[in-house]
Amino acid sequence: MTTAPRLLLIYPATEKLGWVRRFQLPSLSLKQVAAATPPEWEVLLADEIHEDIPFDGQFDLVGITAMTHQAVRAYAIADRFRQRGIPVVLGGIHPTVLPEEASQHADAVVIGEAEPVWAQLLNDLRAGRMAPRYRSIPHGDLLEIPWSRRDFLAGRTYLTTQTIQASRGCPYDCPFCTVTPYFGRTFRYRDPDDILAELRTFDRKLTVFLDDNILGDPERAKPILRGMAGLGLRWGGQANLRFAEDPELVSLLAQSGCIGIFVGIESVSGPQANHPKTGSRFSQADLIKRVRDTGIVLEASMIFGFDDHDESVFETTVRYLEECAPSIPTFHILTPYPGTALFEQFDREGRMLHKEWQHYDHNQVVFRPKQMTPEQLYKGWRAARREVYRWPSVLSRVMQGNGKLINLAYNVLRRGGVYGDDEVVYPKGPDGSLGHNQGMKP
Ligand code: SF4
Repeated sequence: MTTAPRLLLIYPATEKLGWVRRFQLPSLSLKQVAAATPPEWEVLLADEIHEDIPFDGQFDLVGITAMTHQAVRAYAIADRFRQRGIPVVLGGIHPTVLPEEASQHADAVVIGEAEPVWAQLLNDLRAGRMAPRYRSIPHGDLLEIPWSRRDFLAGRTYLTTQTIQASRGCPYDCPFCTVTPYFGRTFRYRDPDDILAELRTFDRKLTVFLDDNILGDPERAKPILRGMAGLGLRWGGQANLRFAEDPELVSLLAQSGCIGIFVGIESVSGPQANHPKTGSRFSQADLIKRVRDTGIVLEASMIFGFDDHDESVFETTVRYLEECAPSIPTFHILTPYPGTALFEQFDREGRMLHKEWQHYDHNQVVFRPKQMTPEQLYKGWRAARREVYRWPSVLSRVMQGNGKLINLAYNVLRRGGVYGDDEVVYPKGPDGSLGHNQGMKP
Protein backbone atom coordinates (compact mmCIF):
# COMPACT_ATOMS: atom_id res chain seq x y z
CA MET A 1 0.00 0.00 0.00
CA THR A 2 1.34 3.48 -0.86
CA THR A 3 1.88 6.16 1.81
CA ALA A 4 -1.27 7.97 0.65
CA PRO A 5 -3.79 5.19 0.18
CA ARG A 6 -6.26 5.77 -2.63
CA LEU A 7 -9.98 5.20 -2.29
CA LEU A 8 -12.19 5.21 -5.39
CA LEU A 9 -15.89 5.77 -4.70
CA ILE A 10 -18.25 4.74 -7.50
CA TYR A 11 -21.81 5.69 -8.33
CA PRO A 12 -22.98 3.19 -10.97
CA ALA A 13 -25.23 4.33 -13.81
CA THR A 14 -27.85 2.15 -15.44
CA GLU A 15 -28.37 4.25 -18.54
CA LYS A 16 -26.65 6.98 -20.49
CA LEU A 17 -28.12 10.37 -19.70
CA GLY A 18 -27.77 13.24 -22.14
CA TRP A 19 -28.18 16.86 -21.08
CA VAL A 20 -30.44 15.67 -18.24
CA ARG A 21 -27.34 14.73 -16.24
CA ARG A 22 -26.86 18.43 -15.53
CA PHE A 23 -30.04 18.26 -13.43
CA GLN A 24 -28.87 15.29 -11.34
CA LEU A 25 -27.66 15.46 -7.77
CA PRO A 26 -24.45 13.86 -6.54
CA SER A 27 -24.79 10.76 -4.39
CA LEU A 28 -25.19 11.86 -0.78
CA SER A 29 -24.12 8.38 0.37
CA LEU A 30 -20.74 8.83 -1.30
CA LYS A 31 -20.40 12.38 0.02
CA GLN A 32 -20.95 10.98 3.50
CA VAL A 33 -18.50 8.12 3.01
CA ALA A 34 -15.92 10.63 1.78
CA ALA A 35 -16.54 12.73 4.88
CA ALA A 36 -16.08 9.71 7.14
CA THR A 37 -12.77 8.79 5.47
CA PRO A 38 -9.68 9.72 7.53
CA PRO A 39 -7.64 12.58 6.02
CA GLU A 40 -4.61 10.44 5.17
CA TRP A 41 -6.65 8.82 2.37
CA GLU A 42 -6.90 10.29 -1.11
CA VAL A 43 -10.57 10.12 -2.12
CA LEU A 44 -11.53 9.94 -5.79
CA LEU A 45 -14.93 9.73 -7.41
CA ALA A 46 -16.23 7.95 -10.49
CA ASP A 47 -19.81 9.06 -11.06
CA GLU A 48 -20.79 6.96 -14.06
CA ILE A 49 -23.51 9.45 -14.96
CA HIS A 50 -20.71 11.87 -15.79
CA GLU A 51 -17.66 9.78 -16.66
CA ASP A 52 -16.28 6.35 -17.46
CA ILE A 53 -15.06 4.08 -14.68
CA PRO A 54 -11.22 4.08 -14.49
CA PHE A 55 -10.93 0.30 -14.58
CA ASP A 56 -7.15 0.45 -15.15
CA GLY A 57 -6.40 2.82 -12.25
CA GLN A 58 -4.45 1.95 -9.13
CA PHE A 59 -6.54 2.02 -5.97
CA ASP A 60 -6.18 0.53 -2.53
CA LEU A 61 -9.93 0.18 -2.14
CA VAL A 62 -13.01 0.61 -4.29
CA GLY A 63 -16.32 1.49 -2.61
CA ILE A 64 -19.55 1.17 -4.60
CA THR A 65 -23.01 2.28 -3.52
CA ALA A 66 -26.08 0.60 -4.97
CA MET A 67 -29.80 1.05 -4.90
CA THR A 68 -31.73 -1.89 -6.29
CA HIS A 69 -31.89 -0.74 -9.92
CA GLN A 70 -28.09 -0.19 -9.83
CA ALA A 71 -27.18 -3.54 -8.29
CA VAL A 72 -26.48 -5.47 -11.50
CA ARG A 73 -24.18 -2.75 -12.81
CA ALA A 74 -22.52 -2.38 -9.39
CA TYR A 75 -21.75 -6.11 -9.33
CA ALA A 76 -20.27 -6.01 -12.85
CA ILE A 77 -18.00 -3.11 -11.87
CA ALA A 78 -17.01 -4.82 -8.63
CA ASP A 79 -16.13 -8.05 -10.45
CA ARG A 80 -13.75 -6.22 -12.80
CA PHE A 81 -11.80 -4.56 -10.00
CA ARG A 82 -11.64 -7.76 -8.00
CA GLN A 83 -10.26 -9.61 -11.03
CA ARG A 84 -7.31 -7.22 -10.77
CA GLY A 85 -6.90 -7.96 -7.07
CA ILE A 86 -8.30 -4.61 -5.89
CA PRO A 87 -10.56 -5.06 -2.86
CA VAL A 88 -14.15 -3.87 -3.22
CA VAL A 89 -16.69 -2.80 -0.59
CA LEU A 90 -20.39 -2.68 -1.48
CA GLY A 91 -22.89 -0.60 0.50
CA GLY A 92 -26.20 1.19 0.18
CA ILE A 93 -29.77 -0.01 0.34
CA HIS A 94 -29.54 -3.05 -1.92
CA PRO A 95 -26.45 -4.65 -0.34
CA THR A 96 -28.01 -3.91 3.06
CA VAL A 97 -31.19 -5.84 2.34
CA LEU A 98 -29.49 -8.61 0.33
CA PRO A 99 -26.01 -8.96 1.87
CA GLU A 100 -25.64 -12.61 0.80
CA GLU A 101 -26.11 -11.65 -2.83
CA ALA A 102 -23.77 -8.64 -2.56
CA SER A 103 -21.09 -10.74 -0.82
CA GLN A 104 -20.62 -12.74 -4.01
CA HIS A 105 -19.20 -9.60 -5.64
CA ALA A 106 -17.39 -7.90 -2.76
CA ASP A 107 -14.62 -8.38 -0.23
CA ALA A 108 -16.77 -6.61 2.34
CA VAL A 109 -20.38 -5.46 2.58
CA VAL A 110 -21.53 -2.52 4.70
CA ILE A 111 -24.96 -3.28 6.12
CA GLY A 112 -26.82 -0.12 7.10
CA GLU A 113 -25.38 3.36 7.42
CA ALA A 114 -21.69 3.58 6.57
CA GLU A 115 -20.51 6.46 8.77
CA PRO A 116 -20.34 4.55 12.10
CA VAL A 117 -18.26 1.67 10.68
CA TRP A 118 -16.26 3.22 7.85
CA ALA A 119 -13.12 4.26 9.76
CA GLN A 120 -12.95 0.81 11.37
CA LEU A 121 -13.25 -0.87 7.97
CA LEU A 122 -10.38 1.23 6.57
CA ASN A 123 -8.21 0.51 9.61
CA ASP A 124 -8.90 -3.20 9.24
CA LEU A 125 -8.05 -3.07 5.55
CA ARG A 126 -4.68 -1.44 6.25
CA ALA A 127 -4.00 -4.00 8.96
CA GLY A 128 -4.83 -6.81 6.51
CA ARG A 129 -7.86 -8.04 8.43
CA MET A 130 -10.90 -6.54 6.68
CA ALA A 131 -14.02 -8.46 7.73
CA PRO A 132 -16.63 -9.64 5.20
CA ARG A 133 -19.42 -7.64 6.88
CA TYR A 134 -19.69 -4.36 8.76
CA ARG A 135 -23.07 -3.70 10.27
CA SER A 136 -24.42 -0.50 11.80
CA ILE A 137 -27.73 -0.42 13.63
CA PRO A 138 -29.60 2.88 14.01
CA HIS A 139 -30.40 3.78 17.60
CA GLY A 140 -31.59 6.72 19.69
CA ASP A 141 -33.22 9.81 18.25
CA LEU A 142 -30.12 11.95 17.64
CA LEU A 143 -28.44 11.70 14.24
CA GLU A 144 -24.70 12.29 14.51
CA ILE A 145 -23.04 12.36 11.10
CA PRO A 146 -20.14 14.35 9.66
CA TRP A 147 -20.74 17.24 7.27
CA SER A 148 -20.73 15.79 3.80
CA ARG A 149 -17.75 16.51 1.52
CA ARG A 150 -18.12 18.37 -1.76
CA ASP A 151 -14.53 19.02 -2.82
CA PHE A 152 -14.14 15.63 -4.53
CA LEU A 153 -17.08 16.40 -6.87
CA ALA A 154 -15.16 19.16 -8.66
CA GLY A 155 -15.21 19.19 -12.45
CA ARG A 156 -18.74 17.79 -12.81
CA THR A 157 -21.92 19.75 -13.39
CA TYR A 158 -24.79 18.92 -11.06
CA LEU A 159 -28.03 20.73 -10.36
CA THR A 160 -26.34 21.55 -7.07
CA THR A 161 -23.70 19.92 -4.90
CA GLN A 162 -25.33 21.46 -1.82
CA THR A 163 -27.24 18.40 -0.65
CA ILE A 164 -27.71 17.73 3.03
CA GLN A 165 -29.67 15.56 5.46
CA ALA A 166 -31.28 16.80 8.66
CA SER A 167 -32.94 13.53 9.64
CA ARG A 168 -33.13 9.82 8.93
CA GLY A 169 -35.64 7.09 9.70
CA CYS A 170 -39.40 6.95 9.53
CA PRO A 171 -41.97 5.32 11.82
CA TYR A 172 -44.68 4.89 9.18
CA ASP A 173 -43.24 1.70 7.74
CA CYS A 174 -45.17 1.86 4.46
CA PRO A 175 -45.12 -1.66 2.99
CA PHE A 176 -43.51 -0.58 -0.30
CA CYS A 177 -40.81 1.65 1.19
CA THR A 178 -37.19 0.80 2.00
CA VAL A 179 -36.64 3.70 4.39
CA THR A 180 -37.72 1.94 7.58
CA PRO A 181 -35.71 -1.26 6.90
CA TYR A 182 -32.62 0.84 6.11
CA PHE A 183 -32.79 3.83 8.44
CA GLY A 184 -34.99 2.46 11.23
CA ARG A 185 -38.43 3.28 12.54
CA THR A 186 -37.76 6.40 14.59
CA PHE A 187 -37.08 9.90 13.36
CA ARG A 188 -33.47 10.75 14.17
CA TYR A 189 -32.67 14.43 13.74
CA ARG A 190 -29.34 16.21 13.79
CA ASP A 191 -28.78 18.98 16.30
CA PRO A 192 -30.29 22.10 14.65
CA ASP A 193 -27.12 24.12 15.43
CA ASP A 194 -25.02 21.55 13.58
CA ILE A 195 -27.30 21.65 10.52
CA LEU A 196 -27.37 25.44 10.47
CA ALA A 197 -23.59 25.61 10.82
CA GLU A 198 -23.21 23.29 7.81
CA LEU A 199 -25.74 25.31 5.82
CA ARG A 200 -23.73 28.48 6.52
CA THR A 201 -20.80 26.95 4.62
CA PHE A 202 -22.92 26.81 1.44
CA ASP A 203 -21.89 29.53 -0.97
CA ARG A 204 -24.76 29.17 -3.43
CA LYS A 205 -28.47 29.54 -2.90
CA LEU A 206 -29.85 26.27 -4.26
CA THR A 207 -29.89 23.51 -1.64
CA VAL A 208 -31.61 20.14 -1.53
CA PHE A 209 -32.49 18.28 1.66
CA LEU A 210 -32.35 14.55 0.99
CA ASP A 211 -34.32 13.52 4.06
CA ASP A 212 -37.13 11.12 3.33
CA ASN A 213 -39.46 13.11 5.53
CA ILE A 214 -37.86 16.31 6.78
CA LEU A 215 -41.05 17.56 8.44
CA GLY A 216 -41.97 14.18 9.93
CA ASP A 217 -41.51 15.44 13.49
CA PRO A 218 -42.80 19.03 13.32
CA GLU A 219 -41.44 20.10 16.70
CA ARG A 220 -37.93 19.05 15.71
CA ALA A 221 -38.21 20.51 12.23
CA LYS A 222 -39.36 23.96 13.39
CA PRO A 223 -36.05 25.13 14.98
CA ILE A 224 -34.25 24.20 11.76
CA LEU A 225 -36.73 26.17 9.64
CA ARG A 226 -36.56 29.16 11.98
CA GLY A 227 -32.77 29.17 11.75
CA MET A 228 -32.87 28.94 7.97
CA ALA A 229 -35.07 32.00 7.63
CA GLY A 230 -32.07 34.34 7.70
CA LEU A 231 -29.73 32.32 5.50
CA GLY A 232 -31.07 33.35 2.10
CA LEU A 233 -31.10 29.78 0.75
CA ARG A 234 -33.60 28.41 -1.76
CA TRP A 235 -34.26 24.79 -1.04
CA GLY A 236 -36.35 21.73 -1.81
CA GLY A 237 -37.05 18.51 0.06
CA GLN A 238 -39.50 15.68 0.78
CA ALA A 239 -42.17 15.39 3.44
CA ASN A 240 -45.56 13.86 4.00
CA LEU A 241 -48.54 16.07 3.37
CA ARG A 242 -49.76 16.03 6.96
CA PHE A 243 -47.28 18.78 7.76
CA ALA A 244 -49.79 21.15 6.15
CA GLU A 245 -52.20 20.51 9.04
CA ASP A 246 -49.98 22.82 11.09
CA PRO A 247 -50.32 26.42 9.80
CA GLU A 248 -47.21 27.50 11.73
CA LEU A 249 -45.16 24.81 10.01
CA VAL A 250 -46.43 25.88 6.57
CA SER A 251 -45.59 29.48 7.32
CA LEU A 252 -42.10 28.60 8.65
CA LEU A 253 -41.51 26.48 5.57
CA ALA A 254 -42.18 29.44 3.30
CA GLN A 255 -40.04 31.79 5.44
CA SER A 256 -37.14 29.31 5.46
CA GLY A 257 -36.68 29.67 1.70
CA CYS A 258 -38.39 26.43 0.65
CA ILE A 259 -39.28 26.59 -3.04
CA GLY A 260 -40.42 23.02 -3.63
CA ILE A 261 -41.64 20.10 -1.57
CA PHE A 262 -42.25 16.52 -2.74
CA VAL A 263 -45.05 14.65 -0.97
CA GLY A 264 -46.16 11.04 -1.32
CA ILE A 265 -49.94 10.88 -1.62
CA GLU A 266 -49.61 7.41 -3.18
CA SER A 267 -53.27 6.49 -3.79
CA VAL A 268 -56.66 8.15 -3.92
CA SER A 269 -58.34 5.05 -2.48
CA GLY A 270 -57.70 1.95 -0.37
CA PRO A 271 -55.37 1.40 2.58
CA GLN A 272 -52.67 3.79 1.35
CA ALA A 273 -55.15 6.67 1.19
CA ASN A 274 -56.11 5.99 4.81
CA HIS A 275 -52.58 5.38 5.98
CA PRO A 276 -51.48 7.36 9.07
CA LYS A 277 -49.05 9.32 6.94
CA THR A 278 -51.79 10.61 4.64
CA GLY A 279 -55.08 10.01 6.47
CA SER A 280 -56.05 13.33 8.01
CA ARG A 281 -59.06 15.13 9.44
CA PHE A 282 -58.45 17.66 6.66
CA SER A 283 -59.10 16.82 3.03
CA GLN A 284 -55.98 16.37 0.96
CA ALA A 285 -57.30 19.03 -1.43
CA ASP A 286 -57.36 21.56 1.44
CA LEU A 287 -53.85 20.64 2.53
CA ILE A 288 -52.53 20.93 -1.02
CA LYS A 289 -54.20 24.32 -1.38
CA ARG A 290 -52.58 25.58 1.84
CA VAL A 291 -49.14 24.79 0.44
CA ARG A 292 -49.95 26.06 -3.04
CA ASP A 293 -51.10 29.41 -1.64
CA THR A 294 -47.62 30.03 -0.24
CA GLY A 295 -46.12 29.79 -3.74
CA ILE A 296 -44.11 26.68 -2.81
CA VAL A 297 -44.13 24.14 -5.64
CA LEU A 298 -45.86 21.01 -4.38
CA GLU A 299 -44.97 17.79 -6.19
CA ALA A 300 -47.55 15.08 -5.46
CA SER A 301 -46.41 11.52 -6.04
CA MET A 302 -48.98 8.84 -6.87
CA ILE A 303 -48.40 5.09 -7.21
CA PHE A 304 -50.39 2.76 -9.47
CA GLY A 305 -50.70 -0.98 -8.98
CA PHE A 306 -51.88 -1.55 -5.39
CA ASP A 307 -54.11 -4.58 -4.94
CA ASP A 308 -57.28 -2.47 -4.75
CA HIS A 309 -56.45 -0.77 -8.08
CA ASP A 310 -58.29 -1.86 -11.19
CA GLU A 311 -58.23 -0.14 -14.57
CA SER A 312 -60.49 2.65 -13.32
CA VAL A 313 -57.72 3.96 -11.04
CA PHE A 314 -56.03 5.92 -13.82
CA GLU A 315 -59.08 7.99 -14.71
CA THR A 316 -60.04 8.46 -11.04
CA THR A 317 -56.56 9.66 -10.16
CA VAL A 318 -56.28 12.07 -13.08
CA ARG A 319 -59.66 13.65 -12.22
CA TYR A 320 -58.71 13.84 -8.54
CA LEU A 321 -55.49 15.64 -9.40
CA GLU A 322 -57.36 18.04 -11.66
CA GLU A 323 -59.47 19.00 -8.65
CA CYS A 324 -56.62 19.28 -6.14
CA ALA A 325 -54.21 20.84 -8.66
CA PRO A 326 -50.86 20.16 -6.99
CA SER A 327 -48.13 22.01 -8.88
CA ILE A 328 -46.53 18.83 -10.23
CA PRO A 329 -48.20 15.40 -10.34
CA THR A 330 -45.81 12.45 -10.52
CA PHE A 331 -46.87 8.87 -11.24
CA HIS A 332 -44.94 5.74 -10.35
CA ILE A 333 -45.57 2.07 -10.99
CA LEU A 334 -45.66 0.14 -7.72
CA THR A 335 -42.30 -1.56 -7.31
CA PRO A 336 -41.84 -4.21 -4.63
CA TYR A 337 -38.24 -3.58 -3.63
CA PRO A 338 -36.40 -6.40 -1.87
CA GLY A 339 -36.34 -5.82 1.86
CA THR A 340 -39.90 -4.49 1.95
CA ALA A 341 -43.02 -6.20 3.29
CA LEU A 342 -44.55 -5.86 -0.17
CA PHE A 343 -41.75 -7.83 -1.80
CA GLU A 344 -42.09 -10.60 0.77
CA GLN A 345 -45.85 -10.76 0.21
CA PHE A 346 -45.71 -10.82 -3.59
CA ASP A 347 -42.82 -13.27 -3.60
CA ARG A 348 -44.75 -15.57 -1.25
CA GLU A 349 -47.77 -15.30 -3.52
CA GLY A 350 -45.69 -16.11 -6.62
CA ARG A 351 -46.46 -12.75 -8.20
CA MET A 352 -42.95 -11.52 -8.97
CA LEU A 353 -42.38 -11.63 -12.74
CA HIS A 354 -38.62 -11.68 -12.37
CA LYS A 355 -35.78 -10.50 -10.15
CA GLU A 356 -33.77 -8.65 -12.75
CA TRP A 357 -32.98 -5.73 -10.49
CA GLN A 358 -32.10 -3.33 -13.29
CA HIS A 359 -35.80 -3.16 -14.15
CA TYR A 360 -36.84 -2.24 -10.59
CA ASP A 361 -37.05 1.45 -11.39
CA HIS A 362 -40.77 2.17 -10.81
CA ASN A 363 -41.17 2.85 -14.54
CA GLN A 364 -41.61 -0.84 -15.40
CA VAL A 365 -43.91 -3.55 -14.12
CA VAL A 366 -42.02 -6.30 -12.30
CA PHE A 367 -44.93 -8.07 -10.59
CA ARG A 368 -48.36 -9.41 -11.45
CA PRO A 369 -51.01 -6.90 -10.30
CA LYS A 370 -54.17 -8.28 -8.70
CA GLN A 371 -56.81 -6.63 -10.85
CA MET A 372 -54.96 -5.80 -14.08
CA THR A 373 -52.49 -7.39 -16.42
CA PRO A 374 -48.95 -5.99 -16.24
CA GLU A 375 -49.49 -4.49 -19.66
CA GLN A 376 -52.70 -2.74 -18.58
CA LEU A 377 -50.86 -1.29 -15.59
CA TYR A 378 -47.99 -0.08 -17.75
CA LYS A 379 -50.17 1.42 -20.46
CA GLY A 380 -52.54 3.02 -17.93
CA TRP A 381 -49.61 4.61 -16.08
CA ARG A 382 -48.15 5.91 -19.30
CA ALA A 383 -51.45 7.34 -20.54
CA ALA A 384 -52.22 8.99 -17.18
CA ARG A 385 -48.90 10.83 -17.00
CA ARG A 386 -49.34 12.07 -20.56
CA GLU A 387 -52.86 13.19 -19.74
CA VAL A 388 -51.79 15.38 -16.80
CA TYR A 389 -48.99 16.95 -18.85
CA ARG A 390 -51.16 18.04 -21.77
CA TRP A 391 -50.75 21.80 -22.12
CA PRO A 392 -54.33 22.64 -21.01
CA SER A 393 -53.80 20.61 -17.81
CA VAL A 394 -50.42 22.22 -17.18
CA LEU A 395 -51.79 25.73 -17.64
CA SER A 396 -54.83 25.05 -15.49
CA ARG A 397 -52.57 23.91 -12.61
CA VAL A 398 -50.18 26.78 -13.01
CA MET A 399 -52.99 29.36 -12.97
CA GLN A 400 -54.45 27.97 -9.72
CA GLY A 401 -51.41 28.56 -7.52
CA ASN A 402 -49.09 31.37 -6.53
CA GLY A 403 -45.52 31.37 -7.85
CA LYS A 404 -46.72 30.91 -11.43
CA LEU A 405 -43.37 31.34 -13.14
CA ILE A 406 -41.53 28.74 -11.09
CA ASN A 407 -44.52 26.40 -11.35
CA LEU A 408 -44.50 26.73 -15.12
CA ALA A 409 -40.75 26.09 -15.30
CA TYR A 410 -41.08 22.89 -13.22
CA ASN A 411 -43.99 21.69 -15.37
CA VAL A 412 -42.15 22.31 -18.63
CA LEU A 413 -39.16 20.35 -17.36
CA ARG A 414 -41.31 17.47 -16.16
CA ARG A 415 -43.37 17.47 -19.35
CA GLY A 416 -40.17 17.03 -21.37
CA GLY A 417 -39.38 13.84 -19.45
CA VAL A 418 -42.92 12.47 -19.74
CA TYR A 419 -43.21 12.98 -23.49
CA GLY A 420 -39.59 12.15 -24.26
CA ASP A 421 -39.25 8.68 -22.72
CA ASP A 422 -39.05 5.39 -24.61
CA GLU A 423 -41.97 3.01 -24.41
CA VAL A 424 -41.25 -0.37 -22.89
CA VAL A 425 -42.41 -3.21 -25.13
CA TYR A 426 -44.26 -5.93 -23.25
CA PRO A 427 -44.42 -9.10 -25.34
CA LYS A 428 -47.53 -11.05 -24.45
CA GLY A 429 -47.53 -14.57 -23.08
CA PRO A 430 -50.12 -17.16 -24.10
CA ASP A 431 -52.58 -15.85 -21.50
CA GLY A 432 -52.28 -12.29 -22.77
CA SER A 433 -50.10 -11.13 -19.87
CA LEU A 434 -46.38 -11.00 -19.26
CA GLY A 435 -44.34 -14.11 -18.85
CA HIS A 436 -41.17 -14.58 -16.83
CA ASN A 437 -38.25 -12.33 -17.71
CA GLN A 438 -40.25 -10.07 -19.95
CA GLY A 439 -40.75 -6.33 -19.77
CA MET A 440 -37.36 -5.46 -21.24
CA LYS A 441 -36.60 -2.08 -22.73
CA PRO A 442 -36.28 -2.32 -26.52
S1 SF4 B 1 -43.91 7.90 5.07
FE1 SF4 B 1 -42.56 8.00 3.28
S2 SF4 B 1 -40.48 7.64 4.07
FE2 SF4 B 1 -41.94 6.97 5.66
S3 SF4 B 1 -42.17 4.77 5.32
FE3 SF4 B 1 -43.84 5.83 4.21
S4 SF4 B 1 -43.08 6.15 2.12
FE4 SF4 B 1 -41.31 5.66 3.44
